[in-house]
Amino acid sequence: MTNNSKNSISPKTVERLSLYKRFLHEQIERGSGFISSRQLAAFSGGTAVQVRQDIRVLGYTGSSKEGYNIPQLLLSIDRFFSAAQCRRAILAGVGNLGQALLINFSQRDAFPEIVAAFDIAEDKVDTVIHGCRCFRRTEIGEVIKDQAISIGIITVPPDAAAETASLLVDAGVTGILNFAPARIKVPDHVYIEHVDLTVTLEKVAFFACTTTY
Ligand code: NAD
Repeated sequence: MTNNSKNSISPKTVERLSLYKRFLHEQIERGSGFISSRQLAAFSGGTAVQVRQDIRVLGYTGSSKEGYNIPQLLLSIDRFFSAAQCRRAILAGVGNLGQALLINFSQRDAFPEIVAAFDIAEDKVDTVIHGCRCFRRTEIGEVIKDQAISIGIITVPPDAAAETASLLVDAGVTGILNFAPARIKVPDHVYIEHVDLTVTLEKVAFFACTTTY
């Protein structure tokens, strides 16, 4: 996949394709062979038209009678994600949140796979935590290059986030997932997503306690 073709695909489409993938795996486990755009839309909370548009990005078309063949559609989605060739990640900050992520994303078949971590705490450096080696900060430039890592996950305290992002970008990372509540500036060639559970929880709490507005 070239950068030009990637630029024409919206992040929301990529997000929904990942959602569809999870749902399709569940359907295979239930023994289903085909699925309609309407069923996928009901799962993702979108519309059937949107599902069909998303799936067209894959270059895959279903039959209007039977819908999409689930194994074939899954294969197309897997190809779409593997074409990006960016699946190896490094985690910065192996604290509470960092370790929770390692538990889920340090296995070989995880996507993305966290293949290395680093921390400033001496008792963590040079140990293996939940299957992942924790390196010293000064080693990460080399680790990122040697292991062809393109994704950085930031779970350090907020005051260390910006400087950690610069370190990752200087070492060659081109995608960042930032969990620290800090605004971080990155160069244009780097894609960054911020995850803030507090904002999401506040939104849920607001709507949970608001009957009419
Ligand atoms: P924590 O204190 O348990 O862990 C932080 C880790 O980062 C520690 O191991 C520490 O040694 C390490 N560290 C500190 N400075 C570093 C640096 N410069 N380089 C590398 N490692 C460094 O904290 P936590 O509870 O795991 O939270 C981590 C971050 O995630 C915080 O910024 C927190 O605010 C944020 N957080 C976000 C969400 C969310 O929804 N996005 C939820 C919980 C926590």
